[in-house]
Amino acid sequence: MKDEAGGREGRKPLTQLVQAGRKPEWTGMPGQPGGIVNPPVWRASTILYDDVAHLRRAAASSTHERLFYGRKGTPTAWSLADALTEMEPGAEGTMLFPSGVAAIACALMAVLKPGDRLLMVDSAYDPTRGFCTQMLKSFGIETIYYDPMAPDLVAHLADGPIRAIFLESPGSLTFEVQDIPAITAWARAHGVVTLMDNTWATPLYFPALTRGVDIAILACTKYIVGHSDVMMGSVTATGDWFGKVRQTAYAFGQMVSPDDAWLAARGLRTLGVRLAQHRDGALAVAQWLKTQPGVARVLHPALPDCPGHDHWARDFSGSTGLFTFILDGGDEAARAALIDGLAHFGIGYSWGGFESLALPVDPARYRSATRWQAAGPAVRLHIGLEDPADLIADLDAGLARFRAAS
Ligand SMILES: *Cc1c(COP(=O)(O)O)cnc(C)c1O
Repeated sequence: MKDEAGGREGRKPLTQLVQAGRKPEWTGMPGQPGGIVNPPVWRASTILYDDVAHLRRAAASSTHERLFYGRKGTPTAWSLADALTEMEPGAEGTMLFPSGVAAIACALMAVLKPGDRLLMVDSAYDPTRGFCTQMLKSFGIETIYYDPMAPDLVAHLADGPIRAIFLESPGSLTFEVQDIPAITAWARAHGVVTLMDNTWATPLYFPALTRGVDIAILACTKYIVGHSDVMMGSVTATGDWFGKVRQTAYAFGQMVSPDDAWLAARGLRTLGVRLAQHRDGALAVAQWLKTQPGVARVLHPALPDCPGHDHWARDFSGSTGLFTFILDGGDEAARAALIDGLAHFGIGYSWGGFESLALPVDPARYRSATRWQAAGPAVRLHIGLEDPADLIADLDAGLARFRAAS
């Protein structure tokens, strides 16, 4: 593998996934040719200096990708951050966080100050709402929720200046796909910064910064890690914002362990093949569900009746493994009868690992600007890497239990 000098420019995303972040100084020894494939786990708190002058020099210069003190990271984390930056054309850099929620919280703190107003998408991940309600409010920052499908930004501006717009597309319970280029173009024209939770598509299927987003956030816990065994978040930003994000992350003392960074980097190498199989499996299951008695609706961005499907078709290069279906009537007990007997789906929070999951979801609880109405209870599925035929047979039996209990 070649480093920057060997033609890093212009390599395609699948090649980037394999090669990015493997600088020779992180994988080899000075003066020795070649090196190991993956940057190893560099564990450190103290960094030792040759003498006082060396220590002073180190303190006075930039700590970016330089050994300084363990909290500023070691090559294991820099390598992962570098690779994530390369996956987002237009990015200046990436900061890593101990969870997706920590990344969201820090990105918001980097752009907002007391007295500011934030426009938050109404379909946002619930803990994102929680951070606005519990923390931002106490700092004197007002959050105004907007309809993901009809943002009406002009009307919100009439009430006073807006500092930032937060997008999550598609919403991770209800899958509305926002008109991201229109929102970011409007924001740029009005001096408003945009942040986006891009966890569902990842930069592989939606390079957010090329669509006008200033700050792209990932819960790496999901598809980057991909194996349900590490918590992590990332914030990737343009040159206008990366410095502020880094300063805020340092101020909060945010960092990730080298062991976790190493596992996440290992996950990143196979993101391309994993996402392709999640995509195909989820599409097969979603299309089958659509034809089944007992299913009122399937909310999957690649299906034409998903809100914002046209935006998805225009802006995204793929769909992933997470979607929701709405049952036709039935109650909590009937939904539980469906989920409880599933043989191939785990019941649990999070998603993005290699395994399939089924979760009862109740979106009405997490809305304020819009009203959630549906024909029955909702089930969110994460389609893992199993054979879709097994999953479909499992859901077929589940729907029979649902109909019997309804
Ligand atoms: C899971 C998730 C998060 C939070 O990530 P954690 O690592 O669990 O803190 C944020 N946004 C979305 C869309 C998620 O699904």
